[in-house]
Amino acid sequence: MAKDYAKGFYKSQAWQRCRAAFISERETIDGGLCQHCGRKRGYIVDHIVEIEPGNVNDPEITLNHDNLQYLCLECHNTKTFQKHKSTRDDLFFDAEGNINKISPP
Ligand SMILES: [Zn+2]
Repeated sequence: MAKDYAKGFYKSQAWQRCRAAFISERETIDGGLCQHCGRKRGYIVDHIVEIEPGNVNDPEITLNHDNLQYLCLECHNTKTFQKHKSTRDDLFFDAEGNINKISPP
């Protein structure tokens, strides 16, 4: 579930613009590859210092390109699941931190 304090932020125009600018910046650098594995195309713009109630209104954290990384879904899931100490491989987190079930092919 997206955390309540972050919901408004992820819907904000400031974030949508920042996210789009960051992606096009990455595209000019390496074609928009995942910054972790460098093999797949990025899918999710991730905050390195994660958004918390204490910093959700701090643009130096939330909108700072230096605090963003472009990750493919796999690398993002690895990071997120390590954090939550889960080994489920049939679930993934979307860009807003919502948990989703991967539907069978
Ligand atoms: Zn990756």
